[in-house]
Amino acid sequence: MQVIDLPFGHQGFVTDAQGGLSKSPYETWNIARHVGDDPATVQGNIELLDQRVGRHVLFAEQVHGNAVAVVECGPVSHGVGAKPVGQADALLTNCYHQAIAIVVADCVPIIVVGDNGWAAAVHAGRQGLEVGVIEASVHALRDTGAQHVFAVVGPAICGECYEVSQDVADSFTASTGHEALSPRGINAHPRLDLRGAAIAQLEKAGSAILAFDERCTYESDTLYSHRRATHAGHVTGRFAMGVALCHVDDS
Ligand SMILES: [Zn+2]
Ligand SMILES: [Zn+2]
Repeated sequence: MQVIDLPFGHQGFVTDAQGGLSKSPYETWNIARHVGDDPATVQGNIELLDQRVGRHVLFAEQVHGNAVAVVECGPVSHGVGAKPVGQADALLTNCYHQAIAIVVADCVPIIVVGDNGWAAAVHAGRQGLEVGVIEASVHALRDTGAQHVFAVVGPAICGECYEVSQDVADSFTASTGHEALSPRGINAHPRLDLRGAAIAQLEKAGSAILAFDERCTYESDTLYSHRRATHAGHVTGRFAMGVALCHVDDS
């Protein structure tokens, strides 16, 4: 697991496919419940994550949309009467009692931190980029009072590896304004640079880019890649990117 130092003493984290309990084809640290892995094993992997992060890590049910779930620090988010997060592709919080995270395997994971100490974890795949999950997340962060916003972009499939049909490329360009990379060679397909599009959307929404992880999930044996697994004829797991807030005294 990689730990990322963030403003305010917040800590970002990115897990990988190693050191968990899952068996083939999910070996070994699959964090996702929805991919067919044994539920007790996934639970064990999540408890391992909780231990490594030092907090309970909250996830949403990701649906490739643009909803942002706000988890405010208080009895609603932890303790008696805590509510499950529900469907969302971004989690936004000021709670330092728990961590928030999203799961990915090629989609772009992003942490966004506001200068008021609030932070978001964002799942931005091709569809999320099309429906504006990044803009929605940065706006939601500003709605909490943040003036300046900073982003860290995690590992994702790179523009060389993410081939799509011409139709998919056209609709991506139409909705994001981001051009596909040209096909190379005969029978080649257009390619999409999801991370480049995510960075452009973050900047357009007014976020500075603190850092980005250059690793390509498709090319990395230590990260899950939905595309690589599909090409190999099997399913696979998901890794997590998230953030644990340091307590910020804003009184
Ligand atoms: Zn809290
Ligand atoms: Zn690649």
